[in-house]
Amino acid sequence: MQNRLRDLPQVQRLLETPPALLLIHEFGRETVVGAIQGRLQEIREDLLGGQADTEPSGFGPAFFTEIGSRLSRTRQPSLRRVINATGILIHTNLGRARLAPEALAAMHDVAAHASTLELDLETGHRGSRQDHVSRLICELTGAEAALVVNNGAAAIFACLAALAAGRPVVVSRGELVEIGGSFRMPDIVRQSGALLKEIGTTNKTHLRDYEAAIEPDTALLLKSHTSNYKIVGFTAAPDRRDLSDLARRHHRPLVEDLGSGVLIDLAPFGLPDEPVVRDVLASGVDLVTFSGDKLLGGPQAGIIAGQRVLIDQIKTHPIARAVRVDKLSLAALGATLELYRAPNRPMEHIPVLKMLAEPLAATQKRASALQRQIGSADGLDVRIVETIARAGAGSLPQQDLPSRAVAVTSRTHTANELAQALRRGAVPVIGRLSQDRLLLDVRTLMDDEVTEVAAALKAALNG
Ligand SMILES: *Cc1c(COP(=O)(O)O)cnc(C)c1O
Repeated sequence: MQNRLRDLPQVQRLLETPPALLLIHEFGRETVVGAIQGRLQEIREDLLGGQADTEPSGFGPAFFTEIGSRLSRTRQPSLRRVINATGILIHTNLGRARLAPEALAAMHDVAAHASTLELDLETGHRGSRQDHVSRLICELTGAEAALVVNNGAAAIFACLAALAAGRPVVVSRGELVEIGGSFRMPDIVRQSGALLKEIGTTNKTHLRDYEAAIEPDTALLLKSHTSNYKIVGFTAAPDRRDLSDLARRHHRPLVEDLGSGVLIDLAPFGLPDEPVVRDVLASGVDLVTFSGDKLLGGPQAGIIAGQRVLIDQIKTHPIARAVRVDKLSLAALGATLELYRAPNRPMEHIPVLKMLAEPLAATQKRASALQRQIGSADGLDVRIVETIARAGAGSLPQQDLPSRAVAVTSRTHTANELAQALRRGAVPVIGRLSQDRLLLDVRTLMDDEVTEVAAALKAALNG
């Protein structure tokens, strides 16, 4: 064994061989040196552990092919495409909303070229990046003015920092939300410099609680959409219009964090009435904030819309610069909002809305196609089951979206092993586990992904 350890080639000698030179050309010298050292160390440890079978030929072409494929794998970006077969439409772990083709084209255009980001073509002078989308937001929501920042959390943070630093903000105890484990309303209020003034109880908060809480230095009243939970039973919260009347009487702004920005009424599609931004503003709320990449179906962004005097105050606060939106998001948001201008286009073009509104029959058809394409591989049981899909990302928490999944069980693999093998595939497929079965929910699949999922499953079984 000592001999074999001694016989291991020196890195320097390996580096001079033709296959190594090819790898160096491809990956760079330091990377290749590191990979060879790593492999030699593994061989050394195998020898010491007495489980080695390294022959002298072990340092020929096969050795370098192995190094090459290891290096190729590390080159694969860790942020990459997966196929969402979870049935959760807006899955934060999977990147939330998929963008419409129009949004992709707009992003590509401004990414590949110089753009009018802050140029006014009429005057030739400096323009505002906000102008590209604020007009559209106002048109679609009825707001006087709008400001886009980099996400929903930044939107509410900027509002509070600019309008309420050092002063009390009144919030119902029933609305102190935590979203996704890292957005916690009480923490956002405190970090913005505002003082949290909790009122009411978990289940009931009355108009008189708000009224009693308003002190001379109260900055504003804050409402938050309870995006990911519902309090049921004996509950009370004042009507939006009554609350806005109260705020107006006391000359305090009413701000509402809507979470998911719904721009059109989704009721005709069998969906409950999540607050539509336009209706909320019309009922007297002075400012609303919402995300760009939830039910709106656009890129990550935070939108603040409402009264011009308030928006101007936020715009000129230093925090607005710190949470400035980038040009790619602006391009994608602008193109997505443009799709909302024609009545039928959002449901046809925006992937999130298309998935939401898809009739069950179409989902059933896709499930049949997937079942057929998977076929009856040996030891595999593939059947179509009824499932409940969800909007996800704290949108429509109570809303069951009837869906279909292909349920896969195998005699040779546990459901967990199947799921893991699918995650390791060339294009990873993410399903969900239920009762020792792997479920591939087809509501979140595009038609052209069906073939890919079937191929990935076969590859997973063979690999
Ligand atoms: C999702 C959500 C947020 C956070 O928005 P991000 O875009 O994820 O930063 C804030 N408030 C509510 C009520 C939400 O649902």
